[in-house]
Amino acid sequence: MKEDFGLTQDQIDIQLMTRDFIRKELPFERIKECDEKNEVPMEVVKKCADMGLTSITLPESIGGGGMGQVTNSLVLEEIGYQDVGFATTIGACSLAYTPVDLFGTQAQKELFGKFIVDGGLAAFALTEADAGSDVANGRTTAVKDGDEWVINGTKCYITNGNNASVYAVFAVTTPDAGTRGMSCFIVERSRAGITCGKEEEKMGIRLSNTCEMVFDNVRVPADHLVGKEGQGFKIAMSTFDITRPAGVGACTCGAMRSCIDKCLEYAATRITFGNPILQNQSVQFMIADMEIRYEAARALAYKVASLIDAGITDSALASASKTLSSDYLVKTTEDAVQIFGGNGYSKDYPIEIMYRNAKISQLFEGTNQIQRMVIVKSLLKAAGMM
Ligand SMILES: Cc1cc2nc3c(=O)[nH]c(=O)nc-3n(C[C@H](O)[C@H](O)[C@H](O)COP(=O)(O)OP(=O)(O)OC[C@H]3O[C@@H](n4cnc5c(N)ncnc54)[C@H](O)[C@@H]3O)c2cc1C
Repeated sequence: MKEDFGLTQDQIDIQLMTRDFIRKELPFERIKECDEKNEVPMEVVKKCADMGLTSITLPESIGGGGMGQVTNSLVLEEIGYQDVGFATTIGACSLAYTPVDLFGTQAQKELFGKFIVDGGLAAFALTEADAGSDVANGRTTAVKDGDEWVINGTKCYITNGNNASVYAVFAVTTPDAGTRGMSCFIVERSRAGITCGKEEEKMGIRLSNTCEMVFDNVRVPADHLVGKEGQGFKIAMSTFDITRPAGVGACTCGAMRSCIDKCLEYAATRITFGNPILQNQSVQFMIADMEIRYEAARALAYKVASLIDAGITDSALASASKTLSSDYLVKTTEDAVQIFGGNGYSKDYPIEIMYRNAKISQLFEGTNQIQRMVIVKSLLKAAGMM
């Protein structure tokens, strides 16, 4: 892989360390086993936590890595090379911490961050059965009772749901106020009234835990409200502006790179009609197109991550990176199956899992239709048309 983007020596060291670590600790045989069992390899999660990969974006002052989104992208790209599902497990920690990082007090950062720094996982609990794309339509409520908030409701499709020690939970505090009626709360798993509902049996990313989370009269102290009451929607959207480029944009680039490497190796050794299939221009061009997509998606992901690290957030650019990378990954894994032929369809080869893993990237952190709506809205605003 060519190195670029003016990375610092520290960033290159973290990139290479993550690459060596994940390829050694999470070989295809283990991925295949976890994929079959719909299981998170917790022994690898623990090692990631010990290495500081789950807390890489947390401030140094609370024991985190103090690194920005470029470094986070490098880490998630390297893990995504090996398995997008496992990268989702790790990436969900910075996703869950970001609301607190952006809007929380120092005490809240310490409270939330400690769970991750101490080796726990975290989860971002926004989606509900009737509030996916339509985020503001949530039914989970938080009602003030003295100096506590009482949370009731059911969240669905929560990554790390059953394995998290702490959650960023979004709940309605002012009914019928739409995007201004929702607030964000820090909720520790140890609180009474939290149960894990249905665990999803997913098509792909099976090395991540996804489940329904039920909050039944869960009481948290008043100081667990993140930001101001009614700011929840803004907090969630601001979070995605930060996390989409690394969590999906760069992570999926790792999977594209993996497809390219695997296709080159396979096509060089697979013989048909007396010659390696790599000698066919049709196969070469599919691999060339993978490389074009990879470089384009990677350039955008790191451009947006660099801007974020420089203090510039741009919703449309974050959405563009997420959409481009995920659309490209789906196409790239599809072509990889084609190059592997029947073997691409077999569970004996890694391409089959990668093909199933790819699809989610067009759905979560907002579907690609929602991303396009964000982009158009930004264009219309800039043109003074809304
Ligand atoms: C494996 C997995 C992990 C997830 N992890 C998390 C997590 O950690 N935390 C969390 O909070 N959520 C999580 N989610 C939820 C995810 O973010 C939502 O599934 C996603 O936002 C889409 O919402 P939905 O499923 O309700 O689809 P819908 O909102 O029902 O959308 C269905 C289809 O309609 C389209 N659509 C909807 N509205 C419009 C519109 N106005 N214009 C055009 N098209 C539209 C959508 O693009 C989509 O194609 C996860 C989901 C999955 C599957």
